[in-house]
Amino acid sequence: AVKEHGHDGWQFFSETLQEQAKQRLTIINGLRTAIERQELSALFQPIVTAETGRIAGAELLLRWQSASGPVSPAVFIPVAEMTGAIVPIGLWVFREACRAEAEWRHRWGETAPYVSVNVSARQLNEASLADEFAAILLESGADPTRLLLEITETSLMADVETNLRILRRLADLGLRVAVDDFGTGYSSLAQLTRLPVNVLKIDRAFVDGIEKSEESRTIIRAVIGIGRSLDLKLVAEGVETAGQHRELCTYGCDMIQGYYFHRPLDEKTFAEVFEREHTQPGRDTGGALHFL
Ligand code: C2E
Ligand code: MG
Ligand code: MG
Ligand code: MG
Repeated sequence: AVKEHGHDGWQFFSETLQEQAKQRLTIINGLRTAIERQELSALFQPIVTAETGRIAGAELLLRWQSASGPVSPAVFIPVAEMTGAIVPIGLWVFREACRAEAEWRHRWGETAPYVSVNVSARQLNEASLADEFAAILLESGADPTRLLLEITETSLMADVETNLRILRRLADLGLRVAVDDFGTGYSSLAQLTRLPVNVLKIDRAFVDGIEKSEESRTIIRAVIGIGRSLDLKLVAEGVETAGQHRELCTYGCDMIQGYYFHRPLDEKTFAEVFEREHTQPGRDTGGALHFL
């Protein structure tokens, strides 16, 4: 068919769109059975104290090894949100986070890392979310005060009234809340003070601009100022260079996440890295608890 229509470029374009639609359908279908086929796994990216560079927490990052190969969360999460598959997947993720928290605290005690976990807007719209999280907390024995729920600024601000109600219920369970990708959406400061938020995560885009643009530096200093005045902790994400780390320290950023320190790691490697650090002298005790 391609030959019949010649090489006018348009044919190529339409074939690509068709290819994209097919891929999308494969993702939609694949997501439905990803849990039962045990295709999902969790990586843990260390989050370090800015001053010391030592691990205080970890963000759980979802990975999907589909039947036709690995699919990036940047690709499948938006699809899962659209189809609703994110609801059962989100519960799987939260269960993993709780299991890790309980295991780590059992192994390392009070200095164990806290666990950060992403929650999408679609999950917040489920009336049963708080009950389900409560049940998972109970069965796992996880300490809710060591679990940080990351919700993007955009989804948080999309429907403040609804989110306020659900976040209060989650906060009542003892869970902590972070605003993810902060600076990319449009937060009203008035709204921000109404929400039970503990942490701001500065978006990678601004961190990326630290050494290149005055504008990025200005935004980061302003965000840290807002966080300080609201008594929130600040985490910078996507830190890739020593220069970025240095600047963030001078601005008073509390925590750092990024390839400069650690990439997302499988759980075994994460434990080895933490263990190595943990057995070094001078480890600040209770860092994670103190942070959250
Ligand atoms: P996010 O929550 O903002 O997670 C941070 C992303 O930045 C991760 O990408 C991480 O691997 C990446 N990253 C960390 N440090 C650096 C760095 O120094 N440089 C660069 N270039 N990237 C860095 P990842 O794992 O591909 O996840 C992408 C997004 O997918 C996440 O962004 C989050 O929005 C979503 N996601 C991942 N896991 C889950 C999940 O379990 N549930 C939900 N709802 N969303 C998830
Ligand atoms: Mg996140
Ligand atoms: Mg983020
Ligand atoms: Mg981000």
